[in-house]
Amino acid sequence: MVKIMVKGTTSQGKHNKKTHIRCRRCGRHSYNIRKEKCAACGYPRAKIRAEKWRWKTTSRVKRRIMKICHMKSKRINTKTGM
Ligand SMILES: [Zn+2]
Repeated sequence: MVKIMVKGTTSQGKHNKKTHIRCRRCGRHSYNIRKEKCAACGYPRAKIRAEKWRWKTTSRVKRRIMKICHMKSKRINTKTGM
């Protein structure tokens, strides 16, 4: 038998496994179910995986945290900038 590498339409039926779900901290679709870890922000790790050059995560996570911080108290932490 000759094995043929298939990437197109015929193999799409195998794509039925969920690897990532929506993360509850950053809101991105990057929380790995098997690893139980978010690829974008590192949840459930306490430290947020956010670098300056990764503007997408950084801005989104910070924006959300800013919102939460603002709701909790109106004091702004200047060290972390959140
Ligand atoms: Zn996340």
